[in-house]
Amino acid sequence: MKIVIIDDSPDALALAKARLTKECDDIFCANCGKDGLKMVREEIPDLILLDVDMPDISGFDICRTLKNDDDLHTIPIIFLSGTCGQQDKVKGLDIGAVDFVTKPFDAFELRARVRVALRTKHLHDLLSLHAQLDPLTELFNRRAMSERLEREWARAERHDKVISFAMLDLDHFKKINDTFGHSVGDRVLQNVAKTLISQCRKIDLPVRYGGEEFAIVIPDEAAEQAAKMVERLRDHIANTPLITGDTSVTITASFGVADSTDRPSIKAMIEAADMAMYQAKQNGRNRVEAALHLEPVAKN
Ligand SMILES: [Mg+2]
Repeated sequence: MKIVIIDDSPDALALAKARLTKECDDIFCANCGKDGLKMVREEIPDLILLDVDMPDISGFDICRTLKNDDDLHTIPIIFLSGTCGQQDKVKGLDIGAVDFVTKPFDAFELRARVRVALRTKHLHDLLSLHAQLDPLTELFNRRAMSERLEREWARAERHDKVISFAMLDLDHFKKINDTFGHSVGDRVLQNVAKTLISQCRKIDLPVRYGGEEFAIVIPDEAAEQAAKMVERLRDHIANTPLITGDTSVTITASFGVADSTDRPSIKAMIEAADMAMYQAKQNGRNRVEAALHLEPVAKN
């Protein structure tokens, strides 16, 4: 758990930090609004203690900025103020703070309020993680993938980078369900998920796309390189049978890869990967196909 304290008074900062070291090892301090916002963006803390009265940006304005930011709006904020009346307290809570502590604060009360806020944040994080996971494979689900893809796409555009997207569909999966039953089918899906988790890089995001389809968001790689990475996954899946009793169940997967270069949207990239996967099925399954870019028209 990480806390950022933003207060223009050095004494108040030092005191709050000293009072909270028991609750939290990771405490960062900023002595103006501008630095505070920068610090919050860099550290993504679990809680912000925010002074209301600061010369450069008021605590209320910082709170509004954070609550309008898709990446930061869930971080709880506790206002600190020495001068606020009841109306200001109501205002602070209405614009999104979880609590209000009056300076000079009582150390025990401050700690207790910080504990409550951190506890609630932890539960919120757990719930939001569960909402993003596929329960069978424990991979992220398609909804989580969409959010991540949008972030990665925007990041790639900002920094002039490329991202790739891989789709994979298990070959003849229905036959496994029909032959061995659904519980073995489920374990085959879990087995494939394990391979994806263990073989992908940390920055890649493997997801359960639906049914027997999986997908991988591959940042910073063009389709040619991504296809090579994915080829290792294909090989690994084909050579990692599920052992159940005396039976060994082998599965293979067909992959399609596309990247963001010259594609107008995420949707276009996904469709290109989907088409490439269809091509892999057409070309005999258990193989990887990369979507090619259109050749520039030759001038004569
Ligand atoms: Mg102040």
